[in-house]
Amino acid sequence: MRLGIRVRGVVQGVGFRPFVARLAAEMGILGWVRNTPAGVEMEVQGSAELLQAFLRDLEARKPAPARILGVEHEEIPERVETGFRIQPSQAGQAPRPSVPADLALCPECAAEMGDPSERRYRYPFTNCTNCGPRYSIIRSLPYDRPRTAMVAFPLCEACGSQYREPLDRRYHAQPIACPVCGPRLISGGLEGEEALAHARQTLLEGRILALKGLGGYQLMVDATSEEAVRCLRERKRREDKPFAVMFPDEASLRSACRASATELATLRSVEAPILLLERVGELIAPAVAPGNPQLGAMLPNTPLHLLLLAEVGRPLVCTSGNLSEEPMAIGEDEARSRLGGIADAFLEHDRPIVRPVDDSVGRVEGGTLRLLRRARGFAPLPHALPYGGPPILAFGGHQKVTVTLLFEGQAVVSQHLGDLNSPLGQDLLARTVADLLDFFRVEPRVLACDLHPDYASTRLAERMALERGLPLRRIQHHHAHAGACAAEWGLTPPFLGLIWDGSGFGSDGRLWGGEALRIEGWGFQRIGHLRPFPLPGGDRAVKEPRRSALGLCWELLGEAGASGSLFAESERTTLLTMLGRNLNSPRSSSIGRLFDAVAALSGLRAGPGFEGQAAMALEFAARAGTGDDSYAFGLQDGVADPAPLLEAMLEDQRRGLGGEALARRFHLALAGLALAWAQGAGLEDVVLSGGCFQNALLARLCEEKLGAAGFRVHRPALFPANDGGISLGQAWVAAQWGNEV
Ligand SMILES: [Zn+2]
Ligand SMILES: [Zn+2]
Repeated sequence: MRLGIRVRGVVQGVGFRPFVARLAAEMGILGWVRNTPAGVEMEVQGSAELLQAFLRDLEARKPAPARILGVEHEEIPERVETGFRIQPSQAGQAPRPSVPADLALCPECAAEMGDPSERRYRYPFTNCTNCGPRYSIIRSLPYDRPRTAMVAFPLCEACGSQYREPLDRRYHAQPIACPVCGPRLISGGLEGEEALAHARQTLLEGRILALKGLGGYQLMVDATSEEAVRCLRERKRREDKPFAVMFPDEASLRSACRASATELATLRSVEAPILLLERVGELIAPAVAPGNPQLGAMLPNTPLHLLLLAEVGRPLVCTSGNLSEEPMAIGEDEARSRLGGIADAFLEHDRPIVRPVDDSVGRVEGGTLRLLRRARGFAPLPHALPYGGPPILAFGGHQKVTVTLLFEGQAVVSQHLGDLNSPLGQDLLARTVADLLDFFRVEPRVLACDLHPDYASTRLAERMALERGLPLRRIQHHHAHAGACAAEWGLTPPFLGLIWDGSGFGSDGRLWGGEALRIEGWGFQRIGHLRPFPLPGGDRAVKEPRRSALGLCWELLGEAGASGSLFAESERTTLLTMLGRNLNSPRSSSIGRLFDAVAALSGLRAGPGFEGQAAMALEFAARAGTGDDSYAFGLQDGVADPAPLLEAMLEDQRRGLGGEALARRFHLALAGLALAWAQGAGLEDVVLSGGCFQNALLARLCEEKLGAAGFRVHRPALFPANDGGISLGQAWVAAQWGNEV
């Protein structure tokens, strides 16, 4: 029997053809394999059982970095054949993009680095078809060395012969290098081992190192030294927001974090994200993640990190090289001017970084990886989306921005770009849009953006729509959150979206954030929402939870109920005047702000902090609470009134009940609200998304309650529940729009 097989997906640049050749040789199958513009194709000949097994193993044993979007096969006439060959690539047609994400160091390359008899012993830029830089060094497609940052490093003879040998692990691996022909380490006037020793000394002395990593500069400091970490916080102007920690090895990681088998496997995977893990022991300095029972942990994922961490022999804080909220620096001069005031020393190399790619962050919940930030290892892997209309470009929101390009049945979501508050952030968005279009050679025909008129992403979309004469779909923020989850799981409307977050611009021009949306076709119906309450000072309330508390009490209990001890007398008087006269006190239905208010009232977190800090404090307190006692919302015509909840909570407080119990009852009340809204909507499929569902406890309680009542619950996994998913959701809604009109 002979089969013609075509494989679509990310199957080039990931060692797929050598894998096929080895598999065929192992099974005694005859034929050939080659790259095509659309992926990989092959003809294989053998008995029917053998070919069945081959097809199975093709997917089951594929190289870790490969992503298969589809396999098609058909029977063709047998031929005289004597072996299995890798044929030259088929050329002629327009190249179809197939770009792997950056891949973490593989075990074989790591082993070579530790072997003094190997050419690449201790070489910090080693890689092969299974590992190494990809998206962060590719300038344009098709993916060949001259179009990567490796163009400046011609292969030496030894590397060249490995590159040409079909059964070698480095066959056609574009970025391969060795100490003879590849990039080298630099630190000031020092090179190679001397540069590394200087960096090691810097870190051991408790000083701050700026490391030119894979997709950008990182700041590193001894994570076991309270003083060193505090110094980094001061210079980086970052008060409490947790830092991630890179551990030299698994043993060291397990001495500071609890990690399940799935979590360890995820940390070791080719994507190698930062994972939020439960913290144990006293190894890590408290200043790394103040007041937080979790730790963002990762393992060395490049040869350079492996070498450096082994040299230092202790865990290091590893955070993006930037000032708060700005994008990462990627160029030497840029890094000097932006990080010069933070870092005591620089460890760099002469391989250019083409585009910034930050570390990905996620957590494992019940065996499922859920990303909070999608970047290295994941971007720009395509996500299959059955849509055959004109290409759509979606611009995202304002925070944790990503851009999505939807074309030919696939959505390509950019890496996490950060916030658009700074000119640097806005510039990065514009460059990423241009980069994506150029990279994939796609002309968008429809644009999509947020409904918010003042987002920098909206203004950029408007400009492009005008310049190119394209239609612009303005998509409501929470509708987009629901759409992202639908895009990820292949849901078709109608379904219910319970979308809870900090805030988004509503269709009525008000601030939304506690929504029950019935998604139907390309539109939606707002069938429920939280009763809005005023936020004195507007945006300032986001960073100061007690303002939400005051606004909530004022709304529900009147001026007399808004007393308490959260503010000094004079400040409270000013704020009450603002509320009374409706000055700069926008009303919001945000459940994120309700979290802030409850955290402040229960004494867990009242003062200034980063967004989400109060909600996290409430979540951590609730995890320590026990029992089934719950508060309840009033519910009328879909509007959830927190008044009964607030009264019961204040009463519990008077009775001396602790913050942990209050927090747990509050979480259970929200799960009860989710169920009530779902029962009111009467739709089987329910999406839970929005920033509030980064709270693992809230998500689990809602999921359990809805599941027990027979609803099918869908939650974001690889595309974040926070605003990192907004661009994908906008593209999805715009695609529904296209289907309808
Ligand atoms: Zn490798
Ligand atoms: Zn070489």
